[in-house]
Amino acid sequence: MSETIFTKIVNKEIPAEILYEDDLALAFSDINPQAPIHFLVIPKKPIPTINDIELEDKSLVGHLYWVAALIAKQKGVAESGYRAVMNCNEQGGQTVYHIHLHVLAGKSLGWPPYQEKLKAE
Ligand code: 5GP
Repeated sequence: MSETIFTKIVNKEIPAEILYEDDLALAFSDINPQAPIHFLVIPKKPIPTINDIELEDKSLVGHLYWVAALIAKQKGVAESGYRAVMNCNEQGGQTVYHIHLHVLAGKSLGWPPYQEKLKAE
């Protein structure tokens, strides 16, 4: 798997608005925000998709949620609420193949994401 733009951000080869960093994870603002607050939390380890998460990564993936909540608290949206979501592969809307938690907040978010009317059986 070739290196993605997120590995370049981890390695500080390209800039990003970094919100949090530790040995395992990095969080930064999304370049194309879809909500008033939209940041990404990524593992430094380059795991391409959710399907590639190994059992040994379980605490790492849990850590991403911990970082998401920490930043949500810092930004004052933990109580009002937010969405933390990870897209997987083409139909899931994934475009960067290095797993990342989208954290969206600052307005009421629509649900469900699939808007087309389902045909009655
Ligand atoms: P995906 O579509 O894979 O779920 O999400 C990828 C996200 O990465 C998108 O929301 C996109 O705006 C964001 N993104 C892509 N390239 C860059 C970049 O170079 N810098 C930052 N900060 N975000 C990026």
